[in-house]
Amino acid sequence: MTTFADRHIGTTVEAQRVMLDALGIAAGEDERPVDTLMRDAVPASIRRDRAAESTLPAAASESEALAELRALASRNTVNRPMIGQGYYGTITPSVIQRNVLENPSWYTAYTPYQPEISQGRLEALINFQTMVAELTGLDTANASMLDESTAVAEGMLLARRASKATSNVFVVDADALPQTKALLATRAEAVGIELVERALAAGETLPEALFGVFVQYPGASGLVWDPSAVIDAAHLAGGLAVVAADLLALTLISSPGSLGADVAVGTTQRFGVPMGFGGPHAGYMAVRSGLERQLPGRLVGVSQDAEGHPAYRLSLQTREQHIRREKATSNICTAQVLLAVMASMYAVCHGPDGLRAIASRAATGARFLATQLERSGAEVVHGAYFDTITVRVPGRAEEIVRRAHDEFGTLLNLVDADTVRVSTDETTTHEDILRVASAFGAGEDSFAYIPATALPAALHRQDEYLTHPVFHAHRSETAMMRYLKTLADRDYALDRGMIPLGSCTMKLNAATEMAAITWPEFAELHPFAPEQDVRGTLELIDQLEAWLADVTGYDAVSLQPNAGSQGELAGLLAIRGYHRANGDAQRTVCLIPSSAHGTNAASAVLAGMTVVVVACDELGNVDLGDLRAKIAANAETLAALMITYPSTHGVYEQDVLEITAAVHDAGGQVYIDGANLNALLGYSRFGDLGGDVSHLNLHKTFAIPHGGGGPGVGPVAAKAHLAPHLPAHPLAQRAEHAGGHVFAGGPVSGAPYGSAGVLPISWAYVRMMGADGLRDATAAAVLAANYVAARLEGHYPVLYTGESGRVAHECILDLRPLKEATGITVDDVAKRLIDYGFHSPTMSFPVAGTLMVEPTESEDLGELERFIEAMIQIKAEADAVAAGRWDAADNPLVNAPHTAVSLIAGEWTHPYTREEAAYPIRSLVAGKYWPPVRRIDQAYGDRNLVCACPPVEAFA
Ligand SMILES: *Cc1c(COP(=O)(O)O)cnc(C)c1O
Repeated sequence: MTTFADRHIGTTVEAQRVMLDALGIAAGEDERPVDTLMRDAVPASIRRDRAAESTLPAAASESEALAELRALASRNTVNRPMIGQGYYGTITPSVIQRNVLENPSWYTAYTPYQPEISQGRLEALINFQTMVAELTGLDTANASMLDESTAVAEGMLLARRASKATSNVFVVDADALPQTKALLATRAEAVGIELVERALAAGETLPEALFGVFVQYPGASGLVWDPSAVIDAAHLAGGLAVVAADLLALTLISSPGSLGADVAVGTTQRFGVPMGFGGPHAGYMAVRSGLERQLPGRLVGVSQDAEGHPAYRLSLQTREQHIRREKATSNICTAQVLLAVMASMYAVCHGPDGLRAIASRAATGARFLATQLERSGAEVVHGAYFDTITVRVPGRAEEIVRRAHDEFGTLLNLVDADTVRVSTDETTTHEDILRVASAFGAGEDSFAYIPATALPAALHRQDEYLTHPVFHAHRSETAMMRYLKTLADRDYALDRGMIPLGSCTMKLNAATEMAAITWPEFAELHPFAPEQDVRGTLELIDQLEAWLADVTGYDAVSLQPNAGSQGELAGLLAIRGYHRANGDAQRTVCLIPSSAHGTNAASAVLAGMTVVVVACDELGNVDLGDLRAKIAANAETLAALMITYPSTHGVYEQDVLEITAAVHDAGGQVYIDGANLNALLGYSRFGDLGGDVSHLNLHKTFAIPHGGGGPGVGPVAAKAHLAPHLPAHPLAQRAEHAGGHVFAGGPVSGAPYGSAGVLPISWAYVRMMGADGLRDATAAAVLAANYVAARLEGHYPVLYTGESGRVAHECILDLRPLKEATGITVDDVAKRLIDYGFHSPTMSFPVAGTLMVEPTESEDLGELERFIEAMIQIKAEADAVAAGRWDAADNPLVNAPHTAVSLIAGEWTHPYTREEAAYPIRSLVAGKYWPPVRRIDQAYGDRNLVCACPPVEAFA
């Protein structure tokens, strides 16, 4: 009987034998040939014995894993979520759940760095940006932020960059969400910003000097007030105003932009994205004109293709960490694309009138509840509110909240002994409101329902929004379904073919792994629900923490960071906390090899560290001599070394133990970036290599889909001495983590367990693979990379190999000699691969002019062969250009990719045939992916920045 691992791993034993033959590897005695390869490839000094203890349970079948997940789910209780505080009940339109969230065409796509094959999700994201920009009344929105609280922190940092004020003071609204205040404290402290809290709505004056002010609108208390005077005062002091605004409320009340805000931030969760016990959801940020170059994260813009047709792409990428490194506007890499797509489609589905109706329903519900409570004698604190009321019930708050939970299955927000807060939303029914009233003891009689809101007349929104046809044209479900299909068809995702992106590990996201995330018992949990309601999820989290600790050789794991970049920040903050606790506050230097991923440097800066670059030798390894020199030069101030293992060059460095020992000897800590864990799992552990802390990317190694650019989960795993400094959360259901560790660092996410809603995916992956399956996956991934390297070596030099002549789980193909000989660039090859039906490998990282290929374990031999054949034939095409058969300026490579219309419209004038353009390999005839646009002009889009939906006529 076959196992799940057999279905997860693409190559069969027979196929592996063929591949090993090609590598010249025969089985040693008593071992499988693949073990011989791994013995070759993984240095003996770090290799772990197969027999080594693992505490992972034996692999479960798909049905067993689902049954266990059902059992865990049944230990959760879904109560009516009226806690609010940034997380609200919402109805995911079924057409979006089925056609986006549960559709591999959307969830298995990669970040749209290859825009020609990403026009569908780029259109969805520009809809998102348009929606956010118009609702906030600002000029430019990005796509997207990780959550509301981190978006506020990014807003603070943007204000720091953009303000000319010399002050270090950032003013925080006393009526801000508590999780945001806690996160801001962590982030401000790390970079030396002083936070000053002011009751802004109560008219407390601003300090004289400041660089920014943060307003929560409406306030956490529910109060709706006009912050324009505060914003004016901030401007007068030379500061910027950052407003966290509830997008649903903005359909009814004046936009932050109209009140003078420079930056608006928030979450789009209540636009159809389930709460998921805290995430994932798309946070947002919008800025006024003039600040767009300061935006963190990804920004979609309109450019044009080679024929002058409008086409979408990522704009202003030179702001981002992968180019600007420690000078980047943020460390964000993976964002929340899938959730941004869902939120934008919610707006497409409902249109402005529908959104207004949903908002009105929530607002009138709150007003109705307030009326009931006031009649029963309770004091509703504010007269102006949207969907949240704060109720004073001296001495009775705890009893009321308990009654609401125990007797009425309703979750209220206990503020203090005298105060309860209640939020209504799209899902709140008349009965819910009557039940809440009963919990307050407001009597049994039902009062007449008055459909009125408690919004102040002066703040009634007057201007129009979402006027673009896209928000009006898809009102029937048929139209909506077809729109989603049309966009999905424009994109290349794993459901079409392999995405061999080095460093990104685009492996299978199995259907069984995905199944549980939409079960209501997991999807509809409020992140601040009481512990008794969420025991199943907490148990799942405990198990996953313990399993991840086991496979990495660490003691403690926090699942709170909601992307790898945030895990990096959390890990570096833990290192910093540790040094400080030891009285070593001066240890702030972070050594980073020149080959490192851009997030490393950007994260170090956010953790308040100074980056010192360590050179790499010509083999791509850390230059030990330079490392020792840099350690010596920074002996007193060394905080950490941040390395990636295997290296970003895809090589198992022999010297890793020597490297980590040198850092420890000098009093530094070792951070190992876990993005390449897929080359190590089951064969070695970061903790055994001398790592003190790592982040993992569950969306790389542990099967969470990339979602077209997020969600991600970036757990931080650490040795026991750093555990006290891992991120805690003021609203966590419990302080203790797997292994009994208690964390006490500041939070790095809005929710205690970050993007808990997608953890069942990685849980199922580990549960179904078991220790042996994970190890076999590693071997299959390493074999696939070595096979591709060996087959392509004669056509493209393989840039780096280890001492054994083997690569790890990815290989770098050097295309610089090709360019030298033929003029064909790495870009031409990447775009030509589209004509062959492939997503390009990673381009020019970590070395310019190269392609980094990571096939992963999930591709079968047939797909590997198809890719190899395409690469060999592309090389032949380039040679034909060099030989003069085709003009250097007119050949299938420089003209790639070819759209259908470019082949059939008008006269064909190129020196190559139409068949050579579109069907260079016979097998393409059976099923071809047609890109919707020609090659996109990158520079044009940055020169002519347009980041909102273009008018329909533009496409005529
Ligand atoms: C992907 C990656 C990161 C960043 O992780 P995100 O989840 O995208 O934030 C960091 N380092 C390396 C080497 C990576 O490949």
